[in-house]
Amino acid sequence: TAWTPAGDGALAKRHRHLPNSHPTYFSRPITMVRARNCRFYDEHGRSYLDALNNVTLVGHSHPRLVEAAARQLGRLNTNTRFVYDVLSEYAERLTATLPDGLDVVYFVNSGSEANDLALRMSRYLTKREDVVIIDDAYHGYTSVVADVSPSRYRHYGKPDTTHPTPNPDRYRGRYGYDDPQAGAHYAAHVTETFDRLAAEGRAPAAFLFEALLAGGGQVVLPPGYLAPIFQTAARHGAMTIADEVQVGFGRLGEAFWGFETQDVVPDFVTMGKAMGNGFPVAAMVTTREISQAFDPAGRFFSTYGGNPVACAVGLELLNVVEEENLQDNALRTGQYLRDVLAALAPRHEIIGDVRGQGFYSGVEFVLDRETKEPASEETLIICERLKDRGALVYPTGPAWNILKLKPPLTFTPAHADEFAAALDAVLEEGW
Ligand code: PMP
Repeated sequence: TAWTPAGDGALAKRHRHLPNSHPTYFSRPITMVRARNCRFYDEHGRSYLDALNNVTLVGHSHPRLVEAAARQLGRLNTNTRFVYDVLSEYAERLTATLPDGLDVVYFVNSGSEANDLALRMSRYLTKREDVVIIDDAYHGYTSVVADVSPSRYRHYGKPDTTHPTPNPDRYRGRYGYDDPQAGAHYAAHVTETFDRLAAEGRAPAAFLFEALLAGGGQVVLPPGYLAPIFQTAARHGAMTIADEVQVGFGRLGEAFWGFETQDVVPDFVTMGKAMGNGFPVAAMVTTREISQAFDPAGRFFSTYGGNPVACAVGLELLNVVEEENLQDNALRTGQYLRDVLAALAPRHEIIGDVRGQGFYSGVEFVLDRETKEPASEETLIICERLKDRGALVYPTGPAWNILKLKPPLTFTPAHADEFAAALDAVLEEGW
């Protein structure tokens, strides 16, 4: 039975008025009061190192973002049919981070809306319904995107138009880290799916993917995976949608956008989360040609999508990422974090794999390194114990046995050492 908190605090009220299915982190959730850079502070004044909150790209309460939001809120905030400088300037700056051609922005309020719109446009333009996805993905909560999110439709049945393809996980999947052709092998399954559907007279409208799998278990795409899939999609006249909601904005270190690490250019790029550092800012970006072809289907308008405050925050975030060299820090310190975590593996049998790109990493826990049986219960306990030691991280993946590490891009090597020491101590204690 669900635990019901007593009293009249934030948690008790939340339990009374939010749906039971609305998750909170930890079995005894923490009531947070404030946060700054890489640390949260709770109602008792305890501090927690944040290795979890990928929304907070440039650190909590970054003074420049706070200032930008407050200034804009005090000057002008309105619905988006008025003309104001900050929207145009932001659209120009945002598209400058993307490959040429991707220069029309649809501002929305969440990752779900961005993916919903990209799917709707793909279906309208191709006059097809079927969508190919990567298994174990999560793409959002609206009806349309829940239907392409295995962790959601698992509870009500896979829609006939959704076609999951194998998770290209080189730790657990059919083709391992030792196979230099793993990318091509996993891609061949996607090509097979496209060919089969086309032969059945139902070629897909789109291929929807993440450039590093989040819900799929912090899985780095194998080299050479996306390029052949893009060729297949082009051959079948299908559109490509890069869901950058988790991994965009420099988090992967080597590139600003995740898809760039695989040398492909999608038809649609969807983004959110980090885009406003916690303030709701999201978008779908596509080409002028695609955008115009969709126009007859109806005008696009979102009351809040691209509102002046959202644009002011999003614009300042781009400035901060650039001026503080945060993408470069993601590359260097992200690798350092994985190095210090991998150094724990020889002493702790439970560590099966340490993987990631930039500041997007996973530590996979197993009961047995040979069978790779997931240590699901243990992973949750480890996260609870880490919390008690003041370090925040949480399980992810299909079996919930992977630590998802997505700290602010301002995380330093000292933070990485602090986190690794806490994990070492928790694993030493046992359970
Ligand atoms: N895509 C991915 C990859 C996500 O992780 C999420 C959110 N977890 C979404 C889409 C949906 O975004 P939102 O919650 O902003 O609607």
